[in-house]
Amino acid sequence: MGHSQTARPPIFDGHNDTILSLEKTGRSFFEQSTEGHIDLPRSRAGGLGGGFFAIYIHDPIAAKPTQSSESPVDTVLNIYADERTWPEPMSLEYAQSAALHYLGRLLRVAQASNGQVAVIHTAAELQRALDDGVFAMLLHFEGAEPLDPDGEALEAFYAAGIRSVGLTHSRRNRFAQGVPFKFPSSPDLGPGLTDAGKALVRQLNVRRVMIDLSHLNERGFWDVAKLSDAPLVATHSNVHALSATPRNLTDKQLDAIRDSGGVAGLNFAVSFLRADGARDANTPVARMVDHVEYMVRRMGIDHVALGSDFDGAPMPAEVKDAAGLPTLVRGLEDRGYAGEDLRKLLHGNWVRVLRTTWGA
Ligand SMILES: [Zn+2]
Repeated sequence: MGHSQTARPPIFDGHNDTILSLEKTGRSFFEQSTEGHIDLPRSRAGGLGGGFFAIYIHDPIAAKPTQSSESPVDTVLNIYADERTWPEPMSLEYAQSAALHYLGRLLRVAQASNGQVAVIHTAAELQRALDDGVFAMLLHFEGAEPLDPDGEALEAFYAAGIRSVGLTHSRRNRFAQGVPFKFPSSPDLGPGLTDAGKALVRQLNVRRVMIDLSHLNERGFWDVAKLSDAPLVATHSNVHALSATPRNLTDKQLDAIRDSGGVAGLNFAVSFLRADGARDANTPVARMVDHVEYMVRRMGIDHVALGSDFDGAPMPAEVKDAAGLPTLVRGLEDRGYAGEDLRKLLHGNWVRVLRTTWGA
């Protein structure tokens, strides 16, 4: 085939829900599984050097499937399909206790790894881990529900390693409103940030914690664009012009990300790749590369990265899981990405934007 596996740069990925998958299936991060998408053996096989590990708090109602045949992904998609029937925001106490549970589980993966996995706190630590072949774990909140408006919990979670916060998942909380899972739709649904949300942006800027715009509605996006002093980042969102889900980014949003020096991460979820929005695993890798190519043409090579949504969404069958990442890399190479450009897409842009945001 003429493709050299060894010469490829390691991949750092902008989003996974692996800690939820480990808990749901009972599988170990250190043993190769046929369930879910990420474990250490499959990461090694696919060239995955690490990523953002999301702490996502299930709504108390969504914690149980509404029908016994449903997967957790289906339950979340059904409950959050229509903003008119969303459940009330969860309590701070509930969110904090769930967050501590998942945070502890993530820290235990690193502790139990014999130095094979490291929680990274700076861009220098991330680059060193990628260079040394240590799997890099970045701790991220997908939804700010565990944070109190006064900012004290942020200090504690920061000390525990949290370095990235998405203001909201596809739902409403005390800070912001996300987009529902409906198709097709504009992302311009619902109000912008609350006063507490605006205060949270300032707290995250002061602490130099990255703000993730994926899932946020469009008015919230523009509020953050106006208030934040950091590059704009959408960890796992695609191109709205190619797949009209509100989870994807309009051309104006892509332009704002570029102008701020930020990054958008390619989401592999089939329904966010396809023009018809279908949850069809028979979605070719070429569709993934189409989104990368569109973003590169619109924003430039410095502003595009990967944000798989492994363990949180249905993947294209050709990729399947972390071990299948070389299929995507070959797709990028076949479209002409190589050398420094490929290195930027696979991890370099994440390292740069995190260094700018975190300051080290
Ligand atoms: Zn997500």
